[in-house]
Amino acid sequence: MDKNFETLLKYQEIDIKLKRLLDSLEKSDANKKMEQARAEFNIAKKTVLDSEKEAEGVISVYETLSSQITELNEKNKELELIVENVDADELVGFADQIETVKDNVVALEKRLSEIKAMAEKLIKTFQDANTMGLKMKDYFNSAKADYSELVKNAEPEISAYKKKLKELEPEINEELFAKYKAITSDNKYPAFVEVYDGDGVYSCTGCGLQLSQKNTSELNEKGICTCETCRRTIFKR
Ligand SMILES: [Zn+2]
Repeated sequence: MDKNFETLLKYQEIDIKLKRLLDSLEKSDANKKMEQARAEFNIAKKTVLDSEKEAEGVISVYETLSSQITELNEKNKELELIVENVDADELVGFADQIETVKDNVVALEKRLSEIKAMAEKLIKTFQDANTMGLKMKDYFNSAKADYSELVKNAEPEISAYKKKLKELEPEINEELFAKYKAITSDNKYPAFVEVYDGDGVYSCTGCGLQLSQKNTSELNEKGICTCETCRRTIFKR
């Protein structure tokens, strides 16, 4: 193993420690709570917006119905006035008209009360969603405070790892480093793994699979090869 390679392995060791630390922050209860609160808040927000939109529709139906009822009531009054001033034998037709108007008013009023019930239900949905939204905002802020505390506590360690990585990076051959970055960008840690030698039968310690004949001879020849299964770099000391 040349010095360059040993430096890369040292880099990898610190990089993994840093990754574990960052992962632990991401998987912390505080961060999970933040994500949960954010999701719940968005649901509540959508409900608020949806019910506002629906309310506009209900209001317009309500207004239409109300004006229809007013109109019919006026017509009814006109008819009643006529009825008072005509002779009894002319009334037969009017009585039917009045009955029809009255029936229409009853039907419209029934519809109006249904709309009212809908509006009340909508208001309740809106208020509940609003309350939930506010609750989730508080929940989020409290989780965020906890999370910030965790990050703050981890910060010195994170900085130390990052500083060390920066120091090591220029000491590593560019090509080798690019290879390392390519593998870790697929979230494969460790990227460089030592071969497992089971009495001359080699296995990749990254994915656990046995090496092909081609990989085996390459490894014996160059001391390094790329796992055909997981694409990690396998080395042999
Ligand atoms: Zn492998």
